[in-house]
Amino acid sequence: GTPLLQVNHLSKHFLIGKSLLKRNRAQLNAVNDVSFTLQKGKTLGIVGESGCGKSTLGRCLLRLVEPSSGEVLIDGKDLTAMSAKTLTAMRKDIQIIFQDPYASLSPRMTIHDILREPLDTHHIGTVQEREEKIAQIMQEVGLRPQILTRYPHEFSGGQRQRIGIARALVLEPKLIIADEPVSALDVSVQAQVLNLISDLKNKRALSFVFIAHDLAVVQHICDEVAVMYLGHIVEQANSDELYRNPKHPYTQSLLSAIPVPNPHQPSQAIILTGDVPSPINPPSGCAFRTRCRFAQPICAQSLPQLTSKTETPDTHKIACHLVE
Ligand code: SF4
Ligand code: MG
Repeated sequence: GTPLLQVNHLSKHFLIGKSLLKRNRAQLNAVNDVSFTLQKGKTLGIVGESGCGKSTLGRCLLRLVEPSSGEVLIDGKDLTAMSAKTLTAMRKDIQIIFQDPYASLSPRMTIHDILREPLDTHHIGTVQEREEKIAQIMQEVGLRPQILTRYPHEFSGGQRQRIGIARALVLEPKLIIADEPVSALDVSVQAQVLNLISDLKNKRALSFVFIAHDLAVVQHICDEVAVMYLGHIVEQANSDELYRNPKHPYTQSLLSAIPVPNPHQPSQAIILTGDVPSPINPPSGCAFRTRCRFAQPICAQSLPQLTSKTETPDTHKIACHLVE
């Protein structure tokens, strides 16, 4: 059937600098020709270091950032071609959970009003039904109803993120973009919030695009994972396959950094040397070549395309000249 989300050749370029003349301003290519599909009830992880474009990509999926080119189809309808009015109505179906729950929750609104506002905006049900939905979601995210009269600053980071999750879910969206939902939290709280998201995902058959900077975070929550580097998806596969058999040198180095629990099989960390190059002036050819152990002359000459290298097409795609 029609995928829930289909992204076709999505790019986002920013002009930066202060000059009034466009040609005097540098162009930052945050997202470069990204394509993927997500089926209903599935979770796609998007993983990469900071500055790889993953948050910009996430925001383009809701048009919180306007894509420069490409399509974002939700249930076959192109979001990028919608009028502002249609888009506002569609926003009910796509919600975002932000990295910093505090910055994204209005400090002057009570928890009740934070949860009530989206229901009012989208005219969901009667007043009584709105209150029932609020009570229901509070219970599902593990918050006591007594806190509804309180304000965001009265809560810890983990509790605030539960409130952020409740706000995203109260509209029963078709798709949730989770932008590093646990990276601002204490390590001890991260697992609790991840478990909550995982439980909600299973219970409500939710569909997620789950953005993270660390492959370990998304391992148990995602059905599929896409690895991003300097605005490009460099590898994409279902989770089991990606963690078992990473093929792109960048994915291999990210995975090698995850500690292996088995002491008889010590992990061989592949240390990446050098910083991520500036997206304003990226390397020619393969963007990863300045840090790649296997780089060859061809890597500087042409951009490797994300393609399936196996006999089973579409299940494992890699953008590397040397993987066959
Ligand atoms: Fe390394 Fe070349 Fe493959 Fe890029 S294309 S990952 S530089 S081997
Ligand atoms: Mg980010």
